[in-house]
Amino acid sequence: MTKIIHVSAECYPIAKVGGLADVVGALPKYQERSGITSQVIMPFYAKDFTKSTPLNCILNSTIYLAETAFDYEILEVPKKQLGFTVFLVKIQNLTDREEVYGYLDDTERFTAFQKVVANFLLLMEHKPDVIHCHDHHTGLLPFFISYAYKYKALKNIPTVLTIHNAQYQGEFSFDKLNYFPEYDLQHSGMLEWDYRINPLATAIKCVWKITTVSPSYLIELQKKANGLESLLQNEQPKSIGILNGVDPEVWNPKTDPLLIKNFSIQNVVSGRKANKEWICNEFGFDPNLPLVAFIGRFVYEKGSDLLPDVITQTFEKFNLNVNILILGSGDLETTSKLEEIQKKYDKKYNHHIGYNEKLSHIIYAGADFLLMPSRVEPCGLNQMYALRYGMIPIVSQVGGLIDTITDIDNGEEGFGITVKKISVHEICFGIQRAADVYNNKSFYSSKRKQIMKIDNSWDRSAEQYINMYHSLKNN
Ligand code: ADP
Repeated sequence: MTKIIHVSAECYPIAKVGGLADVVGALPKYQERSGITSQVIMPFYAKDFTKSTPLNCILNSTIYLAETAFDYEILEVPKKQLGFTVFLVKIQNLTDREEVYGYLDDTERFTAFQKVVANFLLLMEHKPDVIHCHDHHTGLLPFFISYAYKYKALKNIPTVLTIHNAQYQGEFSFDKLNYFPEYDLQHSGMLEWDYRINPLATAIKCVWKITTVSPSYLIELQKKANGLESLLQNEQPKSIGILNGVDPEVWNPKTDPLLIKNFSIQNVVSGRKANKEWICNEFGFDPNLPLVAFIGRFVYEKGSDLLPDVITQTFEKFNLNVNILILGSGDLETTSKLEEIQKKYDKKYNHHIGYNEKLSHIIYAGADFLLMPSRVEPCGLNQMYALRYGMIPIVSQVGGLIDTITDIDNGEEGFGITVKKISVHEICFGIQRAADVYNNKSFYSSKRKQIMKIDNSWDRSAEQYINMYHSLKNN
């Protein structure tokens, strides 16, 4: 096993929407360190990184979607930049835009991207030993290389799909089938789920191996996978769960350039104090009170719709003397409710609506508790970042949160606050427990040091991925 290529829509620091970027930005680096060549191919977006980085054009050609031609270039980010080589697929009028997702023609954008990837793989002199796809945006590729006549030469390369989030499946109607390369029609069933073309279902059916980003998420998906439960049950024998890791080169309070003050376990108290004071200054809070924060997308899966009621009841019903800070964006109804609440609870509750990488790092380093009332959490990276920075997570009991957080009531081993049921009352009760921990100064301080030592680094997970690749060779 010498060469892997990851196919992804995101990769940190080139383009990030969520955890997918963090994983694809870290895993190849750690695989390279284990002695294998690990590369990434992703769409080119008009982002700061692509504007400010010198890129070498290694291929230009034209791709067709039905009768429409699109010129494209493949640009290389040299290995010395990120520790692994990245190929950016710049398709004129399709991928070269600012946002990663959310356009009406996302189907066209990602279908064209995957066709270019297949063409590129065909031209590669030293072909990869494994093609590793991530989420539905890359789910058609395993089908193309298995059944399209043009890509026959790639047919025997093992394929892997990592499911970071099964909620999104990228489905579209069969009238777009003319975008596809000519393929063996007796395999049309591989594309279909619920009378539509479903790229996630297609990948699940076609790939040699499926991985999910935590072991518990794999079990959950058999029961709850946005319609794909029976398919995932069927494909269970070729599936394994591998927990994501944390990239300590990006997420290290000692060296993180985005922090107000860097710190390690030795000076955690003064380091976290400086970051907390900055936050309190910025958002009008009292630095002596426990500060509870939420960082994430406002979507149903993250439980963000519950936040307005959680904030109200924390102050009104539970009467807790805490401050609450939210960083995130998404659902507009949640946003407008939060705007209302902010006016009412000035100095107790505040937020930053939007995406802000720097602020997120300072929050991990300065706020006391991280609230994650998720209904679905395939792995969850926030809680692992929080631990590294000495912030105690308050989490629901789903997916990767089960695999990474042990309740503080579990004796010496415990370090987090788990919420048994996802309801406003239970979440407020979790915040109440957090306030109690905060007020028990010596206990709080020892737990903070304990969690900073937990090893969730990529080395462990990267090795599991490599073992999985090796198992494919023996298939
Ligand atoms: P998901 O990928 O489902 O959104 P993860 O927990 O896997 O959730 O990853 C979330 C990542 O995105 C973390 O690095 C988190 O800090 C970051 N993040 C989410 N929302 C924001 C935001 N509004 N501003 C800055 N970073 C954010």
